[in-house]
Amino acid sequence: MGPIITYRRVAQLLSPAQTGVPKLSVPTGRFRGVSTHDAGRVAADAPLPGAGERGRRWVLHIDMDAFFASAEQLTRPTLRGRPVLVGGSGARGVVAGASYEARVFGARSAMPMHQARRLVGAAAVVIPARGSVYGVLSTQVFDTLRARIPVLETLSYDEAFGEPEELAGATVGEVFAFCARLRAAVRERTGLTASVGAGAGKQLAKIASGLAKPDGIRVISPSEQRGLLAALPVRKLWGIGPVAEARLRTLGIETVGAFAALPQAEAAAILGGAVGTALHRLACGIDDRPVAERNESKQISAETTYEHDIRTLAQLRTAIEAMAAAAHRRLSEDGRAVRTVVLKLKKSDMSIVTRSFTLPYATTDLATLTTAAKRSAIDPVELGPIRLVGVGYAGFSTVRQESLFPELDRDPISEMQEPQPISGPGGSVAASRVASGERLWYPGLDVAHPDFGHGWVQGAGLGVVTVRFETSSTGPGPARTFAADDISLSRADPLGSLG
Ligand SMILES: [Mg+2]
Repeated sequence: MGPIITYRRVAQLLSPAQTGVPKLSVPTGRFRGVSTHDAGRVAADAPLPGAGERGRRWVLHIDMDAFFASAEQLTRPTLRGRPVLVGGSGARGVVAGASYEARVFGARSAMPMHQARRLVGAAAVVIPARGSVYGVLSTQVFDTLRARIPVLETLSYDEAFGEPEELAGATVGEVFAFCARLRAAVRERTGLTASVGAGAGKQLAKIASGLAKPDGIRVISPSEQRGLLAALPVRKLWGIGPVAEARLRTLGIETVGAFAALPQAEAAAILGGAVGTALHRLACGIDDRPVAERNESKQISAETTYEHDIRTLAQLRTAIEAMAAAAHRRLSEDGRAVRTVVLKLKKSDMSIVTRSFTLPYATTDLATLTTAAKRSAIDPVELGPIRLVGVGYAGFSTVRQESLFPELDRDPISEMQEPQPISGPGGSVAASRVASGERLWYPGLDVAHPDFGHGWVQGAGLGVVTVRFETSSTGPGPARTFAADDISLSRADPLGSLG
């Protein structure tokens, strides 16, 4: 592991002439998971080890910290410092985002909401996702980044690679200063924090941002990269899946270093020619993949050959769920929504059957996509035994920013009242909603009042609704309770919470 680097020390080391900016002043923040307060214990006048070391190439990985939950805490200041769980709260609800305060308890994205809730306990704040708000913030983030890094390879709505030309041949200290300015710009534009990792290639940059989280910077210098890589578990290597990991484990290879120590020919023999060679190069720290704007891929899929043939519909459904989830993980990295779900079945006689289902709108919602895949299932009793099951997603929405979160924008109430043919998130707010004629309030709903302005429903029940009046620009606001049928209260556009 490299040295703990604080802004203070970098600011002392880099004169304005070197950085092109006056002394950096970003007062708060955490670096490599160590608070600046703790980091300050390192003698402030000690030289920054490695700051003068130059790298031929510097790739940055920029990743927003707990993006959905942070967006909620930004626009609803009362939630700052509290364990926030964003997502559906119903029986099948899944966590779309968890604040760091919730992660302390073990809550994670993609976890069933009931499980996350149990982990966090009574303090948990569960609110539905607001795709339109995240979409606006995502656009602001990428606009801010593009102004400083013209070529950006976006990985999802809150994550991107960049390779600023001006950093070619730069020192560790210069890279650190660049990252600090980038973070400050994102923070100033959006009010949200990003972590930034930097290294000699994409893989190292991504590992570095993981080490930087939350709210930090980590620059992996050329001299430390090999040692740092070597100590990582082999599954941390880009492209090592569970199968490859298991195969390496049986050979006693558990770290990237152990894998790198193999002769290249042996790596190729174990994992297959081209893949084995490519992974071995990554393990050795050789990663010359360019950073480039993404080409739109045609399909994202996952498939598995089963040891024993699938013979019942129940087994097939379970297999489809697993493959839909596996493909969905890749889809999440891509960041785009899809309309078409393809089911591929290979029979034990090796013949292949594919079926596809196209949704009326593009989505990234796992439950919706899984249901669509299961619709195409054919009973093995009729089809014959099945040895391979694959699920693929296609029909990508072309306008990325506008269709980032279509499913999150569905109205949970109307969805509940009119059961959709395809299940999705929502369906979840029934427990705490209040119905009063046509006026339905549920926690997390954006509302407006002529006297108090924009707010959100904190609680509803027993004929009353409690609203917290606040936006990103107000600071924590007052809570007021109204009769559920109070006509002065109305639904409001969630974007009003961006102040
Ligand atoms: Mg993120």
